[in-house]
Amino acid sequence: MMNINVTKTYLPPFEEYATILKRAWDKGWITNNGELVQELEAKLKEYLGVKHLLFCSNGTIVLQMAIKALGLTKEIITTPFSYVATANAIAWEGCTPVFVDIEPSTFTIDPDKIEAAITENTQAILATHVYGFPCNVEAIQEIAERHHLKVIYDGAHAFGSNYKERSLLSYGDISTCSFHATKLFHTVEGGCITTSDENLFKQMELFRQFGHRGYDYFSVGINAKNSEMHAAMGLCLLPKTSDFIKERKYWFNKYRVAIGKITHIIGDTAEIDGFSWNYSYMPVLFDNIFQLNTVVKALADKGVFARKYFSPSLNTLPFYGPMISCPISQSFADRVLSLPFFVGMTEAEFDLITNTINSTIGE
Ligand SMILES: *Cc1c(COP(=O)(O)O)cnc(C)c1O
Repeated sequence: MMNINVTKTYLPPFEEYATILKRAWDKGWITNNGELVQELEAKLKEYLGVKHLLFCSNGTIVLQMAIKALGLTKEIITTPFSYVATANAIAWEGCTPVFVDIEPSTFTIDPDKIEAAITENTQAILATHVYGFPCNVEAIQEIAERHHLKVIYDGAHAFGSNYKERSLLSYGDISTCSFHATKLFHTVEGGCITTSDENLFKQMELFRQFGHRGYDYFSVGINAKNSEMHAAMGLCLLPKTSDFIKERKYWFNKYRVAIGKITHIIGDTAEIDGFSWNYSYMPVLFDNIFQLNTVVKALADKGVFARKYFSPSLNTLPFYGPMISCPISQSFADRVLSLPFFVGMTEAEFDLITNTINSTIGE
């Protein structure tokens, strides 16, 4: 039986990785802002078209650093439809996540519902470009300016997604990204933080290395550095990213033809003016939880492991405080499934998945 997971980490030919890594070996320098980290940062800045960027150890700590750098201590308005790291970062920093429901077309936070959630304690909005789809960045910016709020984007899925000729990672006061092995572009573990604000950049650069530079101690800090081993993977994969996106687009369009009539293909909603999608996930929405569970079981029987991504809806978790109802997010979390979708998928794997779905819920 085949064994197909929702994603499969792309590994480059070993020699390619080793050739880059050898530079660190030859120097005997494997961490602490080495040559490969610096080169990766420069290339990422160019690729993303952002002013400042820090390569860090993962996509969660960068959210924490963003919250800390902006001096947030109270309520942060956020989306319930994201990976748990988004709300965790808020709570971990001692702030309170205030969940605002999503809009059905993009699965991102609904700007029309943000203002009703603003209180005298609201300090910021932390929104996720979920599946690489764009938050309504214009409406969010407008609300933030009117109420003097900071804006952070969790762009963990947004690498390679552009809106109005700009990377999604260039919006807001601060944007973050994850380079975890399961993401579209990865460095095994890793992440980055971007901003166009010089002061925020300098602060976060200090945070990344314990708050000091040499013998000069400026502030509290943490260890969010990343190593030459991780940077080498990034340098190896970055030039392949546009090919990754092309291949994903191929599989997306094939899925759309094969199962588009019997499921709701969420990626179709990405047809927004001025937006170019990175095809980072293959989420489909079923009519009800029963249909979804039937498909999950039929796929699992064939060795195919899709993921209920993103479920649960974060507002339903008990440890963030009293539950705030978000019916759209909760309904989607019950019915959404991310299908296997990765570079190197085979036609046989694809046929097995789509034939199983069709024979389970098709006429
Ligand atoms: C993956 C992910 C993160 C966390 O990234 P790590 O690098 O695994 O820490 C944060 N937010 C979202 C939306 C994610 O999908």
